[in-house]
Amino acid sequence: MSIITQLPKSVANQIAAGEVIQRPSSIIKELIENSIDANAKNIKVIIKDAGKQSVTVIDDGIGMTKEDAIKCFGRHSTSKLSKAEDLFKIKTMGFRGEALASIAAVSEIILKTKTEFDNIGQQVLVKDSKIVDQKEISFQKGTSINAKNLFYNIPARRNFLKSNNLEIKYIIDEFIRCAIAYPEISFSLINEENEMYKLKSSNLKKRIISVFKKSYEKNLIECEEKYGAITINGFIGKPENTKKTRGDLVDVNIHPTKTEIKFEDEKLIYNLVKSSVNKSLEKFNISPSLDFDADINFKENIGFQISSKESKNINKSYSNKKKDWEKIFENVKVENSDKMLFENTSSIENENKPVQFLENFIFKQVGEKLLIFNHKYCQQRILYEKYKNSNIKSFTNTQQSLFPQYIEFNKSDFKVIQEIIDDIKSIGFNIDFFGKNSIVVNGIPNGLDDINEKEMIESFVEEIKNNNSDIKSENRDLIIKSFSKKAKIINNKNLSEVEMNLIIDRLFACKNSKYSPDGKQNYIELGIDKVENLF
Ligand code: ADP
Ligand code: MG
Repeated sequence: MSIITQLPKSVANQIAAGEVIQRPSSIIKELIENSIDANAKNIKVIIKDAGKQSVTVIDDGIGMTKEDAIKCFGRHSTSKLSKAEDLFKIKTMGFRGEALASIAAVSEIILKTKTEFDNIGQQVLVKDSKIVDQKEISFQKGTSINAKNLFYNIPARRNFLKSNNLEIKYIIDEFIRCAIAYPEISFSLINEENEMYKLKSSNLKKRIISVFKKSYEKNLIECEEKYGAITINGFIGKPENTKKTRGDLVDVNIHPTKTEIKFEDEKLIYNLVKSSVNKSLEKFNISPSLDFDADINFKENIGFQISSKESKNINKSYSNKKKDWEKIFENVKVENSDKMLFENTSSIENENKPVQFLENFIFKQVGEKLLIFNHKYCQQRILYEKYKNSNIKSFTNTQQSLFPQYIEFNKSDFKVIQEIIDDIKSIGFNIDFFGKNSIVVNGIPNGLDDINEKEMIESFVEEIKNNNSDIKSENRDLIIKSFSKKAKIINNKNLSEVEMNLIIDRLFACKNSKYSPDGKQNYIELGIDKVENLF
């Protein structure tokens, strides 16, 4: 008996659509790209309920005829490609003829369109991938596509959409990506009657400034590089305004959504971009403060970064510092057997002084064992547990800043902030919204050394942006992890005996003292046999 059947067309359509349309922002991407391909001069995007209820893209491009207004919804239906050779001279953003068919498989569509050669426009309604109505309407030259009730027919997909703040963030990112690539086109984005962006036709530099912050104005450097058939041009921000990010920067056509490019010689392209950036920096006499060869993940800089001058003062301020630590360790729950290990040996604690080795390590004999601690990881674990157990209501551990710090975000990152502000507050930051896309930091968690508020809060945003989880409750955990990696309890290179003992003591008071929040081992144990075997 045969067990293989051909999938019904509707199911096959939904599966194929899933690759192209993951969320409202995917619809916006596809529709804007179609408008660009249709030579639009003005593109207007309107969203309702973060695009979940409705997305409309209106353009003044070439429009479609009566016949094409129906054909465009067919799978693999495109006007941009007719034979295989055309693949090698593609100038349009689309060519696979999949987008409208995919959108039609997961939403209800109203298409309105008119070409300059027709006197009357066309309206087409599509539901469940079927044309349900077509009629003549009066319409201006161009196309308007309205996609409603995204994933109405696939509830599981609908449930996987994120909060409105995050979905709007994705929409803004997509909108900006297109708007920057086509500065000559004017774009607007309207969210629930509120005009979030109105970008007039201009040049690249002006577009970048109007999309991002005004403060970028003085900080953009032009780059250009030519090599054979390849030309690279654009703008870079001065290094001092750069933050390292793991976000993607590239485009084009091997994936259905075309967010990856395959270059035959990736290294060549990389080197060209790098050389172009470096040349521009040299030309403007700006030495990069970022290491372009380094891994773009945040370098862990938890270590003890303190100048020798500062370290002289440490002893002076030592007694104050000690008080600060104490605050840090309030609330740490002590409820496990690791603590016993330490307690049982407390009688010999005084005899066995800890020893620091190469800044990062602490050696200490505990009972008959030699323990080697990676104190950076230990600090991370201590902080992680401390903040994990705190909550917004009981948290009073905020130290007021002398001068409030204002941090401005772009609109997209600001949506992330709106999403996580309560989680940030819950670990002791006193922050509030301030003006349109800014926050003010009035206080920071108590008892920590040298917090850079801006860098810290930006790192929270990055962490959330780079996380693919759909679970909102994970946000707080991610923030605390990121926080525990950046904050420092003790920030000097040379640890005193008291400091080392304090770290070890607090580590063993943790619920999970063995591992850092990232799962790295906090310490290793060497028994007598192991040490003897070394000889
Ligand atoms: P592709 O863009 O890959 O060709 P789509 O499914 O996105 O596939 O669109 C199918 C066709 O519908 C396009 O090739 C184009 O002819 C037509 N079309 C879609 N959007 C527009 C628009 N905004 N203006 C004019 N024609 C459009
Ligand atoms: Mg397209």
